[in-house]
Amino acid sequence: MAKRTVRDLDVAGKRVIVRVDFNVPRKDGVITNDNRIVQALPTIKYLVENKARVILMSHLGKVDHKDPEKCEADKKKNNMEVVGKRLAELVDTKVTFVPVTRGEELEKAVADLKDGEIVLMQNTRYEKGESKNDPELAKYWASLGDLFVEDAFGSVHRAHASTAGIPSILPSALGFLVEKEVKMLGAAVDTPVHPFVAIIGGAKVSDKIAVVDNLLKIADKVIIGGGMAYTFLKAQGLEVGKSLVEEDKIELAKEYLAKGGDKLVLPVDHVCADAFAEDANTKVADNDAIPADMMGLDIGPKTIALYKETLAGAKTVVWNGPMGVFEMKPFAKGTLEVCTAISELPGATTVIGGGDSAAAAIQLGFAEKFSHISTGGGASLEYMEGKELPGIAVIAEA
Ligand code: ADP
Ligand code: MG
Repeated sequence: MAKRTVRDLDVAGKRVIVRVDFNVPRKDGVITNDNRIVQALPTIKYLVENKARVILMSHLGKVDHKDPEKCEADKKKNNMEVVGKRLAELVDTKVTFVPVTRGEELEKAVADLKDGEIVLMQNTRYEKGESKNDPELAKYWASLGDLFVEDAFGSVHRAHASTAGIPSILPSALGFLVEKEVKMLGAAVDTPVHPFVAIIGGAKVSDKIAVVDNLLKIADKVIIGGGMAYTFLKAQGLEVGKSLVEEDKIELAKEYLAKGGDKLVLPVDHVCADAFAEDANTKVADNDAIPADMMGLDIGPKTIALYKETLAGAKTVVWNGPMGVFEMKPFAKGTLEVCTAISELPGATTVIGGGDSAAAAIQLGFAEKFSHISTGGGASLEYMEGKELPGIAVIAEA
């Protein structure tokens, strides 16, 4: 059964709390990319058009509640006001930003809402109880609304007061963004059309290595690239020089190598560099010839050919993590070539998870070429791991 969505709710005249992901990147207090706000617009506009009284909640950055001085500095840095201003430019209705997370000013703003208007609450993380899913806080926030809509895909893997607490109290549904994410990730991970090829790369080895376990169960091939590969190569006893290795994950890598057999596809050559720098001296080396004083920063030409061959004919592809340090031109080729190969697969469902992989695909001009680019790195990874996402599990079925 599918989860209830915002279409299943009768929202006219109701106070609808929407948990969105407005955690946008900023530099010197200016939003550098408003994609997350834009992604939330379909749900917001639907609610506005259908005469709901919309109450938006989101976190923005981190707030340290242990150190009082740091806490004040974090609050100043992560004030939601700047998001309210941008949102007001993107919608055709009144947007009231409320600079607090509880109390009279917030309650009055909500009480004054007319049908089709929006209140944006201050950063949920101003509250210490947010990340602890404090029941008192969830109850208070829930008291501000009649209904709840979950549209913060980037946060559904966290059981916080605003993502899991409120929907455990109010009648709730998924927003359009989360609905699309669940549909696309589900199509790839739960009901894949075979052959199904998964590609895992990037640098967050300890965060990501566990996903390999589940992917080995559901995919036909699991390609490992990027910084992730060297922990596996080291586990095979190879010399990897100064490449990125997480020593305490070598045992796990050995276990997956044994379990995976030839399902697991590893690089066979590398673009090695004598420094982590754009102008480093480079050398292409096979697995058995990585110089001790160099590091692998991209997959090599033989590996690109091998990965293209592995991808040929795939009908489902999930990709999380770049194949090399794509931010530096000399090490971008592996990611570019793999990205191209995936985007050219005829009739395949292709899904990108992971913030940097998504950024790489967009930067390289492939934004339109994939079936889906996920908006939530951590959440999409946990979905691929086969874990339950608390912010989605709490929503009732239609
Ligand atoms: P994502 O955000 O897609 O989940 P990660 O955050 O795990 O991916 O990793 C992205 C980073 O990995 C990029 O900044 C990239 O430069 C880095 N990276 C890729 N390959 C290597 C490598 N061989 N050595 C070191 N870093 C790498
Ligand atoms: Mg990342």
